[in-house]
Amino acid sequence: MNTSSAPAHTAARTVLVVEDEASLASTLSYNLRKNGFNVVSASDGLEGLQVARRDRPDVIVLDLMLPKMDGLEVCRRIRADSDVPILMLTAKSEEFDKVVGLEMGADDYLTKPFSMRELMARVRALLRRAGGREAVDDASKITIGEIVLDLRGRSVHRAGREVLLKPKEFDLLFFIAKNAGQVFSREQLLENVWGYDFFGGSRTVDVHIRWLREKLEETPAQPRHILTVRGVGYKFVK
Ligand code: CA
Repeated sequence: MNTSSAPAHTAARTVLVVEDEASLASTLSYNLRKNGFNVVSASDGLEGLQVARRDRPDVIVLDLMLPKMDGLEVCRRIRADSDVPILMLTAKSEEFDKVVGLEMGADDYLTKPFSMRELMARVRALLRRAGGREAVDDASKITIGEIVLDLRGRSVHRAGREVLLKPKEFDLLFFIAKNAGQVFSREQLLENVWGYDFFGGSRTVDVHIRWLREKLEETPAQPRHILTVRGVGYKFVK
């Protein structure tokens, strides 16, 4: 997968900031604009969802604790029809379950307080990954036995029936299927599919592998395509 092709000088990207703390919201907007981004903002969860649907931002910075609708619910609803990268903001004092965040579709998270430099780095990393994903859509199809991956439509069929995959499940499947026969460690998969600074850790990979097996393997407990290589990681075989 070509992950280095995201052009650096395309038109300004739009960031949606959903944050109810007015001073933090304005600091975020100010710094994002200073770094060349367009910024749209919302101060509660419902408004955030509306703006996300209306303005189709390139990336969303989403606070966890918000009036009207919390960040996880906003995240879950956005994921129903969009792959837009989402960076969650959480406070140290808040209980934030990373696995729940992952299941709701967050791509990364930052704990308050954080530096603006850190935030910019995370936003840029998310945009780079999303750029790599778009490039992939120009290719066509991968067929493995009865499994067909349509890269353009980002859809998967098994024995003629569509299998609904979450965006990261698709990215992971595409990566291992494209490199069929090659063994990858969990760290390598994290780096290539999620990006090296992803928060979820290696358990994230195991969870997604399990979901993929449940959706794609005839007998998930005895997989034929998505194999565990003991002590190393995973590989895909045709
Ligand atoms: Ca808040």
